[in-house]
Amino acid sequence: MTIIDHSRFIDEQEISRILEANRRPEPQKIREVLAKASEMKGLNLEEVAVLTGISDPSLLHELFETANRIKETIYGKRLVIFAPLYISNLCANECVYCAFRAKNKAVVRRSLNQDEIKRETELLINQGHKRILMVAGESYPKNSFQYVLDSIQSIYEVKTNKGEIRRVNVNIAPLSLEDFRLLKGAKIGTFQLFQETYHRETYHNVHIGGKKMDYNWRVTAFHRAMEAGIDDVGIGVLFGLFDYRFELLAMMQHIRELERVFGVGPHTISVPRLEPATGSDIASHPPHAVSDLDFRKIVAILRLAVPYTGIIMSTRETAQMRRDTFALGVSQISAGSRTNPGGYSDSDHEDDSSQFSLGDHRPLDEVIRDVASMGYVPSFCTGCYRLGRTGADFMDMAKPGDIKNHCNPNAVSTFMEYLMDYASPETRAIGEKLIEEAIGSMQGLAQERARMLVAKVRMGKHDMYC
Ligand code: SAM
Ligand code: SF4
Repeated sequence: MTIIDHSRFIDEQEISRILEANRRPEPQKIREVLAKASEMKGLNLEEVAVLTGISDPSLLHELFETANRIKETIYGKRLVIFAPLYISNLCANECVYCAFRAKNKAVVRRSLNQDEIKRETELLINQGHKRILMVAGESYPKNSFQYVLDSIQSIYEVKTNKGEIRRVNVNIAPLSLEDFRLLKGAKIGTFQLFQETYHRETYHNVHIGGKKMDYNWRVTAFHRAMEAGIDDVGIGVLFGLFDYRFELLAMMQHIRELERVFGVGPHTISVPRLEPATGSDIASHPPHAVSDLDFRKIVAILRLAVPYTGIIMSTRETAQMRRDTFALGVSQISAGSRTNPGGYSDSDHEDDSSQFSLGDHRPLDEVIRDVASMGYVPSFCTGCYRLGRTGADFMDMAKPGDIKNHCNPNAVSTFMEYLMDYASPETRAIGEKLIEEAIGSMQGLAQERARMLVAKVRMGKHDMYC
């Protein structure tokens, strides 16, 4: 089967037509779409377009309430926690918005060697992290992809007396089918890749050098990844480059294409907004800046459109924006992040090797305390990936709601592990109370499993999951 035809499944004409037809939707139409979304079966392109046309504050409020209901029904109060690990800022591309672009002389170049990667990993483990998102520019030391494979192995190899990293996701450039197979063999969790913009003309204007200029190579990367057996992929758009309404519809076309070809869509969606970056004008003056209100709207619409796909919020956003979007559909957050290679070892300053400015600088313990004070249960769970519940298998469990009997118990047990091993006394007090409440609100099998796993963790056992 040849699945990598460069067919234009991103159909700009169709998107423009649908957007035009739904520019000013009637309130009744909007309410019909909200009612359909409440069935949690997802939305089609037209319906997504209708929601992007909402401007009336009371209808916006209804959108946010619907998103909140769906989020609470599917994900409950769980929030998965991870940290990015930048291994290298070498890059051969010229993305005009990124500090790592090849010709940017204002950035100090660094690629970590394997010992340095292990040191960074150790520091993340000692903060309490269990999940890492490994990030790199598109150029590897000695021009060898083996560097990426070695780095993943180095991360998995580190064991401290406190623990280990249990899932490595990666955000690196698109690969050939062959290299995707090697990446799969390295036991990655999710392969994450953002199209940046689905609008071809804009894409060509902002990618002016290197391999990344090839739109088709990037937009078909998930086809190759999935053909190579990587079933968890993470999609995303860099908001601010083009009209967010267009991007949302195009992302839906991409998702529906993956569902059509592979029977399953992406595992996660990321919603990065352009942030200031050293040596980039456009990053400070996005041509299609997304307002805070529209940003919340984007998260809410995505929650309705693809209810079972996780939504990731990074530390690009401020603590307040992150808090606001938990209620609208965000299910995973990074915490305590650095975006420069070696940033955890040299944590006193975000130096001029960083990729972009952060909006949330708080250390992990503070983020965990804040999240827990809001009633959200931070989860360090890696159970699904390790038990092979990925891709379509995950979705088959998630859609009828069966996944709750795993996720909820695993969230409280991994949170308890964090509290016992790493938390400050203040965070631990808040967290233990929250765990009791969370178990109290579970039912049946989930409650039974949660009590059993947490009891084992309290007795000093680690890595308890079901
Ligand atoms: N080099 C690989 C690539 O471009 O796909 C992966 C790593 S790149 C560091 C990860 C992501 O950072 C990019 O896909 C882009 O969306 C995001 N990024 C780049 N510059 C940014 C900026 N100024 N603000 C926010 N995110 C940015
Ligand atoms: Fe390189 Fe990725 Fe930055 Fe583009 S976004 S310059 S490819 S690191």
